[in-house]
Amino acid sequence: MAVIVKNLVPMGEILSKAKEGKYAVGHFNVNSYQWAEAILAGAEEEQSPVIVATSDRLIDYLGGFKTIAVMINRIIEHKGITVPVALHLDHGQSVEHCKAAIDAGYTSVMFDGSHLPIDENIRLTKEVKNYALPFGVSVEAEIGSVGGNEDGMIGGIIYANPEECLRIVREAGIDALAAALGSVHGPYQGEPKLGFNEMKQISDLTDIPLVLHGGSGIPHYQLKRAIELGHAKINVNTECLQAWTNAIRQVLENDRDLYDARAILTPGMEAVKETVKAKIREFGSSCKA
Ligand SMILES: [Zn+2]
Repeated sequence: MAVIVKNLVPMGEILSKAKEGKYAVGHFNVNSYQWAEAILAGAEEEQSPVIVATSDRLIDYLGGFKTIAVMINRIIEHKGITVPVALHLDHGQSVEHCKAAIDAGYTSVMFDGSHLPIDENIRLTKEVKNYALPFGVSVEAEIGSVGGNEDGMIGGIIYANPEECLRIVREAGIDALAAALGSVHGPYQGEPKLGFNEMKQISDLTDIPLVLHGGSGIPHYQLKRAIELGHAKINVNTECLQAWTNAIRQVLENDRDLYDARAILTPGMEAVKETVKAKIREFGSSCKA
């Protein structure tokens, strides 16, 4: 039985509007309770829709799906957040995990079958979509391979195959597609080079909101082009982590006698909020709530 969660909206709604309006909505990963607050506060200040995401491998660390769903809903109520918020499972590793997230009240799940043979990826993604449909929950799928650390699996970049993209969109009925085209999780070595020709081909062929994984550290002109070519969701984690760590390192270096947890962590959360706001402005979703 899914928990009825009135505060959250399906991700598909947010992304259709974004694709139509030629902007992208930021997906920001939660790394602790305070990150959730910082992400929601940043989106509210920018009056932007937002996708609050939890990586599958962090679910236990964060207290489980139900704790996370309740936490996000209660923050929305307590802080008076009015912008549209989707709660999303990032890189769902199994059909069971996706179902558990949906049961807990998530409004979007990614099933990451990108490492599987295409028929298997489509079959399992479709199983997730069939389960999600009655709850109005959105489903994201992945084709190809994002470089770097893909949720624990280190690998190279494998470009998405356009025919496979079209097949998974049609056969599994997904709401958003992560088509790997040169982006990388974690910091980039040198300037990122996204495959814009392939991107245009896939976007024209599928006409579905595209998702850019590894959205940290991509130069603005490339982000702008990716949004023009149908990217409606851009995933950001590394830049927020770096801002958080730098701020906290600074606080600790400035005052070696400091021991109060709130005094140490609050500047980190402020840095996350400012990073979220800057990315929202860069993606063009300010005042689109
Ligand atoms: Zn990713």
